[in-house]
Amino acid sequence: MNTQLCVLGGGPGGYAAAFLAADLGLQVTLVELESRLGGVCLLRGCIPSKALLHVAKTMAEARHLSDWGVAFPPPQIDLDAMRARKEKVLATLTGGLKQLSEKRRVTVIRARATFESSQTLKLEAVDGKPLADDRVTFEHCIVATGSSPTRIPAFDLPTPQVMDSSGALELPDVPESLLVVGGGYIGLEMGTVYAALGSKVSVVEVTDGLLPGVDRDLVRPLHKRLQGQFEAIYLNAKVVSLADQNEAIEVTFEGDLPQKVRRFSRVLLSVGRRPNSAGLGLEKTKVEIDGQGFLVVDPQRRTADPHILAIGDVAGQPMLAHKASHEGKIAVEALLGQPVAFQPRAIPAVVFTDPEIAWAGLTENEAKSQGRKVDVAQFPWAASGRAQAIGRTEGMTKWVVDPDTQRVLGCGIVGFAAGDLISEAVLAIEMGCSIRDVVETIHPHPTLGETLGAAAEVQLGLATDLYRPKKNRERG
Ligand code: FAD
Repeated sequence: MNTQLCVLGGGPGGYAAAFLAADLGLQVTLVELESRLGGVCLLRGCIPSKALLHVAKTMAEARHLSDWGVAFPPPQIDLDAMRARKEKVLATLTGGLKQLSEKRRVTVIRARATFESSQTLKLEAVDGKPLADDRVTFEHCIVATGSSPTRIPAFDLPTPQVMDSSGALELPDVPESLLVVGGGYIGLEMGTVYAALGSKVSVVEVTDGLLPGVDRDLVRPLHKRLQGQFEAIYLNAKVVSLADQNEAIEVTFEGDLPQKVRRFSRVLLSVGRRPNSAGLGLEKTKVEIDGQGFLVVDPQRRTADPHILAIGDVAGQPMLAHKASHEGKIAVEALLGQPVAFQPRAIPAVVFTDPEIAWAGLTENEAKSQGRKVDVAQFPWAASGRAQAIGRTEGMTKWVVDPDTQRVLGCGIVGFAAGDLISEAVLAIEMGCSIRDVVETIHPHPTLGETLGAAAEVQLGLATDLYRPKKNRERG
């Protein structure tokens, strides 16, 4: 078959691109391996993990009510019901995508696609049903094939007790003990779910802190809380071997930990993700691939092949759903000749643990590594009326500010619902707001969102709820 635009991959990058292209009048074909649209995000990532984290969070809140004199009996957990409820969420969302693609007349083909040339994809059936056509020729193709968990061949034991994030999201059981290998956001989110359900969770991280790369002052409150939720957090340590001992996995460690050999009921490997660029036949096109396997793209997401663009996880970091969708829209607008570019000042990132961590724009760590001088204004949530009211005073909100222009460059938040609070900061950074603009924005009281205004007040020495008079007040 022939199509104007072929989108390869039906994740948040691919379907956003396909839908916009159809809305703007292009004839669109989307090829997807899975039976349902949504990609990793909807089927094995963002959505199922947040559905399970919702359960963990609600259980923690119910426990926390004992501080207020309200006690519930220990929860009864019905894993079948939990899985069914999670599946209902996925079914609703994937069903919605199906309807939307039909309304837009996007032709969706279920197949595995590989490039035969710069303008042809070969299709291979994946569900046993013969395909009407085994080739798609196109004017343009947007590659949105996403990413997969990084595998460590030595740890590839033929047992379901060693899982990746997809396996963990299936909730096969509540293991008595779970080792999470890797202290990144996916491992910590899954660890939080299993700890809430009753597993004794340990985390091992090879660097000297959880969430490597994230500003330490944001990670500290989370680390402290996880110490209460998890059995152990091993830093500066790594797993050197795994052995299947039938009912348990024997793990041998190296590094800063007392016991070098331990047994766990299950092990979750969460050591990063790699772009799905191998095996796509890209060598038959002019597309270039970098040393990490990402397709090399320009600001309009065009590859070196004039017929092929790439978006989402396969086209570079950060591997986040909202980055993928945004790129998808840029790529389509670029194809239609609009003067667009993917040049965000801030791509928000959220770790949906308890507390959550969220940041956007320039981080303190990045400023330091760039040798860039910045001001940092922090507002501890202990001074927030709302945080006190809900008993979540461990949080902190900070702005990273250009000391010369007083423009907001970045923002970091740790605390309850930080992920929902960061959007204001993203807008402020994108719009080039000054810290004064944030101070002059009236925030509703009493909310956690007020901490963004309060941290801005700290920068100008105008804070009401903290005593932080400042030398450079006249700058405001
Ligand atoms: P994907 O969603 O990976 O979709 C790619 C699609 O391409 C897949 O459906 C695949 O089947 C298809 N495909 C691949 N090769 C072929 C082929 N040859 N032929 C046909 N089809 C093919 N991100 C967030 O922003 N927020 C979160 O909270 C979050 N949580 C996450 C939690 C977990 C556990 C995981 C694993 C990821 C999480 N992510 C989160 C990351 C997010 O899922 C990805 O960034 C996002 O899915 C990337 O979108 P994409 O469109 O680039 O690719």
